[in-house]
Parts: sequence; structure tokens; C-alpha cells
Amino acid sequence: MVFDLLSRRRPVPERTYIAIEGAKIPVAVRRSSRARHYRLSLHHRIGPVLTVPDGGRWAEAEQFLIGQTGWLAACLDRAPQPVPFVVGAKIPIRGQMHEIVASVKIRGQVECRQTDNGSQLLVPGGPAHMGRRLTDWLRDQARLDLEISVARHSATLGVRAARLRIGNQLTRWGSCSSDRVLSFNWRLVLAPPHVLDYVGAHEVAHLVEMNHSPAFWQVVRLALPDMAKGRAWLKTHGGRLHAYGQERALWHRGHQNVERPDWTNRSISPEHPGVTHGAPARP
Ligand SMILES: [Zn+2]
Repeated sequence: MVFDLLSRRRPVPERTYIAIEGAKIPVAVRRSSRARHYRLSLHHRIGPVLTVPDGGRWAEAEQFLIGQTGWLAACLDRAPQPVPFVVGAKIPIRGQMHEIVASVKIRGQVECRQTDNGSQLLVPGGPAHMGRRLTDWLRDQARLDLEISVARHSATLGVRAARLRIGNQLTRWGSCSSDRVLSFNWRLVLAPPHVLDYVGAHEVAHLVEMNHSPAFWQVVRLALPDMAKGRAWLKTHGGRLHAYGQERALWHRGHQNVERPDWTNRSISPEHPGVTHGAPARP
């Protein structure tokens, strides 16, 4: 009884940990007035998130979390592993896999080369600067492709963007500001070209319709009749693109990662919030 009274008073923390195979995995904790169950989900950016309904008890939430250890371990195992830009890593460029190779040159441009073993990406300079060099180059490539895409869709729709920005947003692939600046994530250049083109068309269409109304989607279709294909690809595979060029998973602090830079691996889709487990909360 005393224990029950104490546990009832224990406040819900903002963060907790769960032990998986000897690693201490941080778990973000959220309170929700809408949730009716304890829930554990795996978010591609934040990592594991434990939802505690209002009126839920922390002791109960902790019990629920411990009960989900096996499920979470399996999810983490399937989640996209980070692929740092190092020699030997395989990264997609415009949807085609390339192996990173150190060039003998100290200066100069990143170059693509076709060999019997597939496509290679030759990066000049020492290993210390490889990540930086490759990221800069990929940003430039993304800009080249997006300038073409944006110009074409702008001509179709009779609009004009003020400026094009290439960034590293974690939550969006593109955006359109009220002062007509279009921003895009450089990782779009990793995806097949039709995917980048869809995001280009999507943002240009926002210069006509600043919302996601049916009218907006009609404008996107006018610019790119085949838009559904790119949109579907991003929903299914988009989350995986975030893994490229990361030293470690954004939320994997303390976890031992097994590197698995395989583009074709099946993985949970971080875009689908359906990867959750729940249990009813006793009020
Ligand atoms: Zn939009």
C-alpha cells in the first residue's frame, strides 16, 4: 500500500531509458490528454517515444515499457542504420548506388566513375575532410537538379520563385515561404530523379496555392501528371535517406550500431506512425 501511494506520486519524467542488449537507449516521454493507452512508438528523428495518458501512473508506464523490450529491439534492428561518408560506404546518387573511393588527388572535384564492380564516387583530399567534401558536392548536385525542376514547373504554371535554398531540414523535404523562397533538403539528390522532381513540382505549386487543399493538388498534377509516384516513394522510402551522411543515428546515443549500408534492406518506414504498441491505462 505504501509503495502504491509512493508510485502514484512519482512524476512522469521527460526522458527515461530502456536496456537493450546491454545498451542504454534513451526514450522520450510524452504526456497526452488524448491518449487512452500507454503507447510506445519509434520515430525516425526522435527515436523511441513513450506516450503516457493523463491520469496514467509512471510505475505502470515503466512496467509497460519494460514489457515492450523485445518489440523495440526488433524495431531498432530493422530501423535504417546510419551510413557515414567514409571509404567503402555505398550511397545512392539519383537512385543509383555508388561506392565511396578515396581519390589519389589532393584537390579537385568529386568524380563519378563506372567500373566492372559498379559505380564509384572518387573523393579527393584526406579522410578527415571526406564527409564535408562529399556533402558539399551532393548539395551542389541537388541544387543543379532542383534548379532545372523548379524552372520547368515554374514555366508550366506561370509563376516565379524569389530564391532557391538547399538545406538539411530534418522534418521536411521542401518548403515554400510567404516571400516565395523555396527550400529543399539536399538528400533529395540521393533519391531516384522522379522523386526530386515531384518535390520540385510540389513546392512550385505552393506559389499558386499556399495550402494542401484539393485545388493545390490539382495544380501539382497540372505541373506533374505523374506526381503520385514520387509522393508514394517518399512515404515508403524517404525516412531512409536521412541515414546517409550521419555519423550515428540521431537518437541512438550510447547504442552500439552495426553498420548496414544496404539500400535494398527492408526496414520500418519512419513516415508511418503505425509502428506502435499500446496497452490500456488504468485510471
Ligand atoms: Zn506542401
